[in-house]
Amino acid sequence: MTTEHYDVIIIGTGAGGGTLAHKLAPSGQRILLLERGGYLPREPENWDSREVFLKDRYLSDEVWYDKDGEVFKPHQQYFVGGNTKFYGAILFRLRERDFDEVHHYGGLSPAWPISYQDLEPYYSEAEKLYLVHGQAGEDPTEPPRSGPFPYPPVSHEPRIQQLSDDFEKTGHRPFHLPVGVDLVESDPEAGRCVRCDRFDGFPCLTDGKADAHVRCVRPALKYDNVTLLTHAKAERLVTGGSGRSVTEVVVDRRGAREIYSGDIVVVSCGAVNSAALLLKSANDQHPNGLANASDVVGRHYMAHINSGVIAISQTPNPTKFQKTLGINDYYWGAADAELPLGHIQMLGKSDRNVLRGGAPWFAPGLALDYLAKHAIDFWITTEDLPHPANRVTVDRLGRIHLAKTYHNLEPHKRLLAKLKELMGPLGCHDAAIPAWSILDQRIPLAGVAHQSGTVRFGADPNTSALDVNCRAHDIDNLYVVDTSFFPSSSAVNPALTAMANALRVGDHLLQRLDAHVTAATRPASDRELQEVDS
Ligand SMILES: Cc1cc2nc3c(=O)[nH]c(=O)nc-3n(C[C@H](O)[C@H](O)[C@H](O)COP(=O)(O)OP(=O)(O)OC[C@H]3O[C@@H](n4cnc5c(N)ncnc54)[C@H](O)[C@@H]3O)c2cc1C
Ligand code: SF4
Repeated sequence: MTTEHYDVIIIGTGAGGGTLAHKLAPSGQRILLLERGGYLPREPENWDSREVFLKDRYLSDEVWYDKDGEVFKPHQQYFVGGNTKFYGAILFRLRERDFDEVHHYGGLSPAWPISYQDLEPYYSEAEKLYLVHGQAGEDPTEPPRSGPFPYPPVSHEPRIQQLSDDFEKTGHRPFHLPVGVDLVESDPEAGRCVRCDRFDGFPCLTDGKADAHVRCVRPALKYDNVTLLTHAKAERLVTGGSGRSVTEVVVDRRGAREIYSGDIVVVSCGAVNSAALLLKSANDQHPNGLANASDVVGRHYMAHINSGVIAISQTPNPTKFQKTLGINDYYWGAADAELPLGHIQMLGKSDRNVLRGGAPWFAPGLALDYLAKHAIDFWITTEDLPHPANRVTVDRLGRIHLAKTYHNLEPHKRLLAKLKELMGPLGCHDAAIPAWSILDQRIPLAGVAHQSGTVRFGADPNTSALDVNCRAHDIDNLYVVDTSFFPSSSAVNPALTAMANALRVGDHLLQRLDAHVTAATRPASDRELQEVDS
């Protein structure tokens, strides 16, 4: 057992933790990154849909329990970079109104303790850091921006351009999705992305996807004041005599128990694991778990109401990079819906293995090949609402339980109906194709990709765990910067908001530590960086 002291310990290297590490690295502060996973192996299987989707090659073996005590395997992947190694890198800002209280068919979406304007400069910073390509002015719900997107939009391939034109003909305002990718269309040699069809749910073999590992952790580790320990799972946080600060982080490192201490401890394990870590750390002074005097830790779990919709185009769809088009015309409602319905975007291109995961058992392989060649893949999202009974708990054996009931399904059904009505005008859905060819599948409990809300921030310590700087109300040196802090989930993808907020909290921490980052601060240029597990 060792005990080492750092200025800042960051637990988790995903969108929140990885981005914060990047922000703090040039400060000269001694920073320790603890990551329960290792480096994701670079191997041909990264792009093999059979390995990724049918054989779950990169999923963790752990199991969680649902509200009835039934065991399930969560769609969790633990690697340096966290879930961003697998994400679709669609990097949206929340809409301006998402920060206010919003009425939905299923109830109220609460207001945030900060406004869109508070986060705007950090959204801009995060978009640059994560190479976001987009076109301002197209998306009808887009919030005001202080400048254009840092990179031009990723162009549509011909079938998607046709789809965009058809959406326009039906009175919609399609827009280019904001994508975080290392792609220079005018000079293909200049970027790492080769514009393949393996974008969504696959790790990127060329490091072309702007994930937290490539964009943040790797450059942060060039600074010799930053240390990363892989296969280092934080098991428990210990508080000192007064109970007002975390004094030890207890770590399981490949089976050995190690202890680290930090002036500041930042938890960023993902919304479910962060809540679980705080709950598991209960002690005499904090009998409900850390940061939990309000009893909100673990509660208000949100996961977006998502469905994948596979439409069958009458003409083949040879698109490779399909994630370029979005529709927000129903975000705040529709002519026949006065309340919000949600967001529609393209999914990565499916193939027969992806389809096999969703098709009925009698679907023959040839039909799946035919369908894959003609499939146009959509992803629709409706806001999930925070409900106190939807919660993460931990039992006496330390096992994670996740209770979830969706309360906002009505608008999701309506949004799905809107998309299905459009199939004909969009050149999809041939009557000769069997009825099951429009596959729509709602993402089940195990689909925790968009998890959020379990350690919410707020101005009132009675109803929130964290203050506006994402510091625990009850514990002076404890912060949380993953998607747990979200008081509401909006209906756009969450990662950019976690990244922007980590940059905001980073500024706060630099001030608190009286640390400075200047243009002159440079990484140690001769530091050898070997990406091998520790
Ligand atoms: C297939 C897929 C597609 C997605 N597509 C998009 C998209 O297009 N756009 C978007 O905005 N979002 C997308 N998401 C969601 C996005 O990836 C997450 O919102 C984002 O990664 C959340 O960041 P986080 O910091 O909260 O958690 P993560 O990124 O999950 O990071 C948590 C980190 O903590 C580590 N960890 C966990 N427990 C411990 C512990 N006890 N000790 C030490 N380390 C620990 C994990 O290994 C991980 O590295 C997608 C997710 C998936 C899975
Ligand atoms: S489309 Fe580009 S960034 Fe995405 S997986 Fe392929 S090469 Fe990587």
